[in-house]
Amino acid sequence: MIIIMERDASAENIQAVTSLLKEHGFQVIVHEGDVHTVIDALGDKTTLSPGRIDAMEGVKKIKLIREPFRLASRDRQTEDTVIEFENGVKIGGANRPVLMVGPCSVEDNYEGLLKVAVAAKEMGCQFLRGGAFKPRTSPYDFDGLGEKGLQYLAKAKEETGLLVVTELMDSTDLDLVCRYADVIQIGARNMQNFKLLKAVGKCDKPVILKRGQSSTIREFLLAAEHIMYNGNEKVILCERGVRSFDSAFTRNLLDISAVPVIKKYSHLPIIVDPSHGTGQRYLIEPMAKAGLVVGADGIMVEVHHNPACALSDGKQSLSIPQFKEVFARLNTLIDTLHLEKNVSLSCVE
Ligand code: PEP
Ligand code: MN
Repeated sequence: MIIIMERDASAENIQAVTSLLKEHGFQVIVHEGDVHTVIDALGDKTTLSPGRIDAMEGVKKIKLIREPFRLASRDRQTEDTVIEFENGVKIGGANRPVLMVGPCSVEDNYEGLLKVAVAAKEMGCQFLRGGAFKPRTSPYDFDGLGEKGLQYLAKAKEETGLLVVTELMDSTDLDLVCRYADVIQIGARNMQNFKLLKAVGKCDKPVILKRGQSSTIREFLLAAEHIMYNGNEKVILCERGVRSFDSAFTRNLLDISAVPVIKKYSHLPIIVDPSHGTGQRYLIEPMAKAGLVVGADGIMVEVHHNPACALSDGKQSLSIPQFKEVFARLNTLIDTLHLEKNVSLSCVE
């Protein structure tokens, strides 16, 4: 790290900083400028929190040379992480982008869920998504079927072979959700629920971590770091839009640039969710395409057997006929991109 001292920092202030750094094994070089003294400190940041230096008397600011996320960083692992499932499906690297679809909430209508699952299978999707535990803004809204919803998902998996993605909201439900899910989803609202991150870090199921509504990319990667630090390296990031000043036409601002940014700084796979990312059915196709073109490892879209009657997120869900139409075109795009993946997605520095 680089430490810039205040213009009026005393010799004692500088001495205190350099001593603490040296005590923690840092190699220290002090540059005395005309106005500011700048200290270069090379060493292992895990032994001394930069926040501790930042709080010291006479310190103006600190610049970190390495990103604070270590396990998730490209510096640690240059090759892309690839997550493989029991049925051979793979996410990440040069593999074909995966497709995850299903209703926002699993509702008490198994036939409806099955219709979506059968259509998903037909269109080449690998995952059925659906929430049995739903985080809802209002306490009066439908908040999921709980275990019954998980059982419906498991039944649809049995009939179609699709892998199941479902949200975990509370670590007390971890064992229950693990019994039914192939992938545990941590929703945007829980991206920084550190106890929950720790809990999924201690299990061995792949985790989809959705970006918090107001989270920076660095915070997003640090949330992934919490899961990895606790032992689970099977993390799939999901860009699902962030809050912006303009909500007149879209629910969130889908940050498409997050995909190549994350590809540059992390080896973890990243998927894009244009349903929550925009809140609008008509924007699902263009934004899914955009996500695929910039290198997403998968797409997650809400599909409902009757969106007008959905108990949550109907407005951003495709009906089954719409889904088939849109995904036929997405599959064509994926075929094209996949052939060119290494060529079209390499970036100029
Ligand atoms: C969902 O996937 O249905 C969901 C609630 O997503 P998010 O956490 O991104 O809002
Ligand atoms: Mn939803």
